[in-house]
Amino acid sequence: RIGTAALAVQVVGSNWPKPHYTLLVTGLCRFQILQLLKEKPYPVAEVEQLDRLEQFTNQHQSEEELGELSEQFYKYAVQLVEMLDMSVPAVAKLRRLLDNLPREALPDILTSIIRTSNKEKLQILDAVRLEERFKMTIPLLVRQIEGLKLLQKTRKPKQDDDKRVVAIRPRRINHIPSTAEDEEEEEDHDDVVMLEKKIRTSSMSEQALKVCLKEIKRLKKMPQSMPEYALTRNYLELMVELPWNKSTKDRLEIRAARILLDNDHYAMEKLKKRVLEYLAVRQLKNNLKGPILCFVGPPGVGKTSVGRSIAKTLGREFHRIALGGVCDQSDIRGHRRTYVGSMPGRIINGLKTVGVNNPVFLLDEVDKLGKSLQGDPAAALLEVLDPEQNHGFTDHYLNVAFDLSQVLFIATANTTATIPPALLDRMEVIRVPGYTQEEKIEIAHRHLIPKQLEQHGLTPQQIQIPQVTTLDIITRYTREAGVRSLDRKLGAICRAVAVKVAEGQHKETKPDRAEVGEGEDCKEHVTEDTKPESISDTADLALPPEMPILIDFHALKDILGPPLYEMEVSERLSQPGVAIGLAWTPLGGEIMFVEASRMDGEGQLTLTGQLGDIMKESAHLAISWLRSNAKRYQLTNASGSFDLLDNTDIHLHFPAGAVTKDGPSAGVTIVTCLASLFSGRLVCSDVAMTGEITLRGLVLPVGGIKDKVLAAHRAGLKRIIIPQRNEKDLEEIALNVRQDLTFVMASCLDEVLNAAFDGGFSVKPRVERLSSKL
Ligand code: ADP
Repeated sequence: RIGTAALAVQVVGSNWPKPHYTLLVTGLCRFQILQLLKEKPYPVAEVEQLDRLEQFTNQHQSEEELGELSEQFYKYAVQLVEMLDMSVPAVAKLRRLLDNLPREALPDILTSIIRTSNKEKLQILDAVRLEERFKMTIPLLVRQIEGLKLLQKTRKPKQDDDKRVVAIRPRRINHIPSTAEDEEEEEDHDDVVMLEKKIRTSSMSEQALKVCLKEIKRLKKMPQSMPEYALTRNYLELMVELPWNKSTKDRLEIRAARILLDNDHYAMEKLKKRVLEYLAVRQLKNNLKGPILCFVGPPGVGKTSVGRSIAKTLGREFHRIALGGVCDQSDIRGHRRTYVGSMPGRIINGLKTVGVNNPVFLLDEVDKLGKSLQGDPAAALLEVLDPEQNHGFTDHYLNVAFDLSQVLFIATANTTATIPPALLDRMEVIRVPGYTQEEKIEIAHRHLIPKQLEQHGLTPQQIQIPQVTTLDIITRYTREAGVRSLDRKLGAICRAVAVKVAEGQHKETKPDRAEVGEGEDCKEHVTEDTKPESISDTADLALPPEMPILIDFHALKDILGPPLYEMEVSERLSQPGVAIGLAWTPLGGEIMFVEASRMDGEGQLTLTGQLGDIMKESAHLAISWLRSNAKRYQLTNASGSFDLLDNTDIHLHFPAGAVTKDGPSAGVTIVTCLASLFSGRLVCSDVAMTGEITLRGLVLPVGGIKDKVLAAHRAGLKRIIIPQRNEKDLEEIALNVRQDLTFVMASCLDEVLNAAFDGGFSVKPRVERLSSKL
């Protein structure tokens, strides 16, 4: 029931990383609790002061009585302090205190300094009478002195830095059982010693070693409650963990590298060639000085995965550093250790993660580095990437140089436009274009599908995705240059199939279990029994899926839903019988695909797409003109006749059928579309046209040229065929739009057709093909 009254002088601490406060108090006197007034939220009690009061009144008497005791105590205290290293300021101060302070205060002060357990400290505090306090403290002092003597004997040859205040605390072997707190403290102390050992045995650079030893010296003197203690310790632990000298051995064999790259990636020949060149030079020259490779291309074309393959061919560790959105240079270079929550940058963190000093670092999305008030991360990257400088890269957190010259950096970006020029200058850009459909199909079947099957625990005996289905996914469910979304769609298919397969297995195993030990008859019986049940469960289960499950168009629609994309401009023009016209609507110009097809029939012309009368007339005009010029252009119908409508029906369609279209301006488009259909040639995919036609093949001017041209420009078309007499309308159009486009002025249909087809639409007679008589 005895306590110490004290005055709080200072409160320090923070809530980060966890609440941790330190109170600095000055002790006033001892007191005794007479009565507890309340306990919550904090205890309030009536107390009686126990010492200090008395001290003054009984001073003379006590001095006489205690003279001997206090003298003895003082002697021990001086002996103890003199065994310590006087060069430590705290020790020198203590020595001065011994002489200056009143003797009565010494037991309390010394007990708090020397190594004592909490219990012992409390006992001293509990001792109200001075005599008692002296008596109780002397054995503690003696114990400390003995311990220190022992320690000095064993550590004699060691340097004087062992004479620290902390080190004088001897281990108690058979004394009072230590409290948990003490144990913890002891453990921490052991950790620090271990840490020091690790630092001395690690292979860090000389400079780093010097810094670390200095830090550990500070750490040993620091009370653990100080926030800086944890910081310093984290720092030292990181320094020990860093791979200063640890590296993997490169295994580089160009032939093997080529095979590995080819195995991992289909197509991208240019990229693979350049990567091999790079590796070959490395093999011959055995150093990394040279430009940093930077793969530039749309997402999902395999930039990252090539980087991973390079690491694999070299037998190196791989680490990806995502730079997208990084706008603080300390992300690259770390925070100075003075900041709360400071940490190393991503480069040093990456090295710690991989644990070797020669990994492959993939700097992903360098084009998406930002800039902010916190500095320019791109500028920080310059130092990292420059082979002339990066052998001494200094992270702010480490504050010592780390050699990055063994790290192989590869960068990726979607565009070079936003990469800072200085950074771009240090990199060799290798463009990775998107894939064609054919390439995507191959990639899907060679790489993506097998990978997805494996991820979903499926085998080719369970699922079959034919190439036409893949093509369908590519054209109708994805719209991308790379293959990432294709990969996701394949994943969705595999998931759906996995459900079916699992359901099938479940159904198969059901009768099996009942069958155990019951023989054939029983099996039949059970199977019949379970049938009605499963039918009532789900209709699907009634018919076990036949393996392999074939993913056809219907399955695709079931799993992925209705197609997401209509075919793109060039895709729509990938077959004969399609041309792009320009239409004018109140909402502005629009591009319009005109499609035509022919079939056996009786020479009928079908028009769909909500056409007005004038449009229908244009269609008739167009077909008539083509029929009359069929011989000149060598246009024939399916049976080889120049009469295009002989036994042939033609269907013309103007998509987006919900909107009524009328007007004469589609004439040239219809002619071009039909000419393409009958000649079997493709209309150029970058050309759009507008113009009214006459029966004799002249092209007449139309309205809305400005809007139509803008629509074509928006759609990314490059050439526009307009009637000659509309030339004056072009002046209304902004210069920059005009500069992007090529205009073809046509006054007759010959000119239109010549401009609409690659290589012109010649009037030359074709070489007659002999039809087989067999
Ligand atoms: P990026 O980094 O260009 O955005 P990724 O490297 O992440 O693209 O590639 C996405 C996925 O596509 C990966 O699973 C990768 O294996 C696959 N992939 C891309 N291109 C090819 C290719 N040519 N051959 C095989 N797989 C490829």
